[in-house]
Order: sequence, then structure tokens, then C-alpha cells
Amino acid sequence: MYERGRELMLKINEIKKSFGKKAVLKGISAKFPQGKTTVIVGPSGSGKTTLLRSLDMLVTPDSGTLDFDDLHLDFAKPISNKENKELRDKTSMVFQNWNLFPNLTILKNITASPIFVHHVAKEQAETNAHNLLKEVGLDEYADAYPDELSGGQQQRISICRALAVKPEYILLDEPTSALDPESEMMILKMLERLAKEGQSMIMVTHNMQFAKDAADKILFVENGEVEFDGAKDAFFSQSSIRVKEFLQGIS
Ligand code: ADP
Repeated sequence: MYERGRELMLKINEIKKSFGKKAVLKGISAKFPQGKTTVIVGPSGSGKTTLLRSLDMLVTPDSGTLDFDDLHLDFAKPISNKENKELRDKTSMVFQNWNLFPNLTILKNITASPIFVHHVAKEQAETNAHNLLKEVGLDEYADAYPDELSGGQQQRISICRALAVKPEYILLDEPTSALDPESEMMILKMLERLAKEGQSMIMVTHNMQFAKDAADKILFVENGEVEFDGAKDAFFSQSSIRVKEFLQGIS
């Protein structure tokens, strides 16, 4: 489904971002290992979505650097279109509200980017899309339109759409927060399977059970700063008062 074997690591250093006078990211440094699932947690408004969006430049940081393979971006300097595209080719975002194109069929939602952005031959892109749809049990909906599907089904499609461009990393922004518990369970199972297969993922979530089950690494962000960065087991057995308070407040 995706290329493996190469040692890749997405790294950021001292990322800062303000909206107007409000400093939202105050110098975030982190590493996101390849083939692993990194879960970003923290209270609402702490900058998690802004951080995730900085990783594929849906938000452009004010300063700091990003390194990915042989790509080096310094946000204090202008980023060229070529560099922007190079980063976007390596990452693919799954949104909270799935954001499918309402006027395109499910098949076209999945094949649009491979065909028009990545210049994959139509037939090849459609074969790949059908394979992805079969994996999530939704191939019978290939010619349907998004509004004919439930929220959970649409979110499964949006994950197929993200995978269709074979990104190095998929970025997920609270992918289950708009879903009913049953659909949430189905999406989380799908993500757990991808994690086991070694798909690199970075996910913002409030779902601590998912973090416990599927994360390799936890980044705890509070007030625009990294409060904890380390292995999942270390996070959940943390003696830090702040982490304990957070975990107690959420469960
Ligand atoms: P989280 O994902 O942890 O809830 P966000 O990154 O969404 O946090 O938001 C952090 C802060 O940045 C919030 O106070 C939010 O209102 C503010 N913010 C986020 N995006 C924008 C924007 N585009 N314009 C202005 N303020 C923003």
C-alpha cells in the first residue's frame, strides 16, 4: 500500500505560530518516527490542530524548521511552491468532518488527487481505489455520492482518499469526534490495522483508549508547548502531576 524500508523521520524544531497577538505555538520541537503512530493530546485550545496543520503547511509557521528526508524548510524564510509541493506529496490529511467533494462520486473522490495531482494513469488509479474500497467493505458505493453514505462510511472513504496518494505520513485531526460510537469503533479498528501494518500516522485525538491501544508515541501539548514527548507506556505511567490531572479529567 505504501513504500517501506527507507529510514524516514519527520522532525520539527522550535516551531512558532501566532494568530494576531495570540502566540499559539511557542517553540515546538518534536520527532515523528517513520512506521509509527504518534498521538497528539492535550486540552482544547492548546494548539494541537495548529501543530498538525503546520506539518503539511495548511498553516504556515512564523519560524522554526522542518526536516523530512532530504527536505529542509526554514519557516523564517519564504517557502517555494516546489518545497510546499514536496512536503504535501509526503503527507495527507484526514479531517474531522471528512470534507469529501459532494458533487463527485466516491470513486472520483478517491481518484481525483492521484490522477490530477500525481499524474497516475486513470485505470491504475481506479484499480487502486477499488482495492482500497474493498478493504473497507465499501466498494459497492463506488458510484454513489457522499450524501448517500453515513458519517462513518464517509470518514472511511476519506481515509481511503488519504491513502490513495500513498503518503509517507497520514495526518488525522480528531477523525472520530463527529461520529456515533459504533462508527467511531469501526474507524479506530481501521486505524489500528493501518498502524500494525506500519503506516506512519500522526493523529490528534481525545480518545485515550485509542492512544493506549495503537499509539507508539505521545506528544502532550499544553498552552502551545510540549509538556511530554515520549513512549506511550511512559506517558500512561507518568508521575507528572500535570499529566495525571489531564488523564483524570478526560476519563
Ligand atoms: P486545539 O486543537 O488544541 O484545540 P487549536 O490549534 O485549534 O487548538 O487552536 C489553538 C488556539 O489558536 C485557539 O485559541 C484558537 O482559537 C486559535 N486559532 C486557531 N486557528 C486560528 C486562526 N486561523 N485564526 C485565529 N485564531 C486561531
